Amino acid sequence: MSTTPLFNRVALIGLGLLGSSLAHALKRQGLVKHIAGSARSQATRDKAMEIGFLDSVYETAAEAVADADLVVLCSPVGTYGDIARAMRPGLKKGVIVTDVGSVKAAVIRDVLPELPGHAHLVPSHPVAGTENSGPESGFAELFDGRYCILTPTPGTNEKAVQAVTDMWARVGSIVELMDATHHDRVLAITSHLPHLIAYTIVGTASDLEEHLMKESAQNGDMVRTSEVIKFSAGGFRDFTRIAASDPIMWRDIFLNNREAVLELLGRFTEDLTALQRAIRWGEGDILEDWFTRTRAIRRGVVEMGQAGSFSAVEPKTGSGADRKS
Ligand code: NAP
Repeated sequence: MSTTPLFNRVALIGLGLLGSSLAHALKRQGLVKHIAGSARSQATRDKAMEIGFLDSVYETAAEAVADADLVVLCSPVGTYGDIARAMRPGLKKGVIVTDVGSVKAAVIRDVLPELPGHAHLVPSHPVAGTENSGPESGFAELFDGRYCILTPTPGTNEKAVQAVTDMWARVGSIVELMDATHHDRVLAITSHLPHLIAYTIVGTASDLEEHLMKESAQNGDMVRTSEVIKFSAGGFRDFTRIAASDPIMWRDIFLNNREAVLELLGRFTEDLTALQRAIRWGEGDILEDWFTRTRAIRRGVVEMGQAGSFSAVEPKTGSGADRKS
């Protein structure tokens, strides 16, 4: 793989898991001469410089983007509109702006109107992540062999699309282009709904446990602590890992992909009701057919090399690497 720099100066706004991983990967490949960064808190900015994945750090986005050829928004999607507005005065002519946000139509809605006419917006979503957050959680291999979906609007400057495609390909991703609304529907089912289900199951289990413990205490029985944790084998343990994902990031994903998530949640609820009915009426053939079909889907995921760790497969990095959001 070539290591010729693609950009002179890149600015990363947000220095958590995604921002720091991209910085590590860009440095690993020698793709950028200078990486500038900015984050909300002084603590994160200091930590980024201490770890050493930035060449310079700034308090504001407007300062960080000065003279940058490429700006990458790496904060929660709910912050993008304000950040785009704040950085506008600092953007140089012909700058390319991209992002790593897990939803795409809302990014175009919020960011495009805030950019000057000379800037090129090429939204992107690396479908790669872990449940960890912050500047210490990043690692250069995060994007290796993972998909990165670009959702440029019709008429976007082709050179800008190519430059963003090249960057993601050279940090290890498999790049695909897609319409933003289509992206949001696909990710609603493959990522957003599974996270919502994990948040629900873990919350419900915790409420149930509290209830059972109260009941045992009232009956004078021995109070057993934390059976949910003690017996969290297999499936539930995987759900707890997913449900540990960053609350702000996931709040913003659900609020910014509301329609697709609600539509698919309706279909999911219908299917759940059908399975509930099959269990109630002892319709084992329905259950068996359903589970056989889903087992084949899992095989397909493994065969495409996208299995990650939402299963018995352990993450390559030991940091919970997984296909996410
Ligand atoms: P993270 O580790 O929590 O980092 C978020 C970063 O954004 C932090 O450096 C934070 O600064 C900064 N930030 C928050 N509000 C800001 C603001 N108003 N101005 C400037 N910086 C701000 O989050 P992440 O996991 O990297 O996620 C970032 C983005 O990647 C999200 O849009 C998410 O949808 C997307 N994504 C995440 C994953 C995943 O698995 N995590 C996967 C694919 C895409 P402080 O530390 O100072 O608060």
